[in-house]
Amino acid sequence: MNSEKLSTRLHQVAAYLIEYANEPLRLADIGSDHAYLPCYLGLNNHLEFAVAGEVVEGPFQSATNEVAARQLTDIIAVRKGDGLAVVTPEDHLNAISICGMGGSLIRDILAKGEDLLTPEMLVVLQPNMASFQLRQWLNLNQFEFLTETVVTDHQRQYEIIVARKVAEPVESLSLKALQFGPFNLQHPTTAFYEKWQGELAVLQQVRQQLEQTVDATHTKAQAVREQIELIEAVLSEAPTDMTTT
Ligand code: SAM
Repeated sequence: MNSEKLSTRLHQVAAYLIEYANEPLRLADIGSDHAYLPCYLGLNNHLEFAVAGEVVEGPFQSATNEVAARQLTDIIAVRKGDGLAVVTPEDHLNAISICGMGGSLIRDILAKGEDLLTPEMLVVLQPNMASFQLRQWLNLNQFEFLTETVVTDHQRQYEIIVARKVAEPVESLSLKALQFGPFNLQHPTTAFYEKWQGELAVLQQVRQQLEQTVDATHTKAQAVREQIELIEAVLSEAPTDMTTT
């Protein structure tokens, strides 16, 4: 992967930013590592301005070097700091991307920078795990889900969520929608089913281990069984040309 050719995962994030952000795009990419995403957008003339935020020195240096090498320093500011602390209202952002972290960390970064999340702000988020917690926070904090998907990249499945802050509270999502994603349930991709087959296999192993160590009525054993049933029900709706074993 580089700034000219993104991974499948980040390419989908870029496509969503191009499709859903108000123009001209003014982006904060938090946890920007090599700054490949903002550089790709800059090189392809989709960017007016971006902040590439990084909290760790090594990735911050990589991002700084990449932006300089691509001669994009006039439109991409690489800043070192925690989450949205690197951004100010004077940056006039209209979009934020946070990718490649746990969903709970993404949620905490958004919550800490809440003042910057004004109505119309677009967020494109790619949690590696805990997407339930992230969707729940978005749902409770006046974000409207615009779309989402699951993509496969190097044999791994990645969820990508696109939402926009709105002025009024939004309708509460069901627990099922928070877990699987409202759009994923409506338009499941093959990668969506592969992700949940993988999660199911892990939970089945946990259930097996629990059955050997605790009573079947134990709260944890019961919770795992309920999760398994929920996932199996969603997987049973997969078209027959998708493997659901
Ligand atoms: N966003 C890139 C991607 O998706 O390919 C890089 C993902 S990398 C796995 C996660 C990056 O987030 C790391 O470079 C890490 O230093 C950075 N990071 C973690 N917590 C952060 C925070 N609170 N603020 C800014 N950056 C953070």
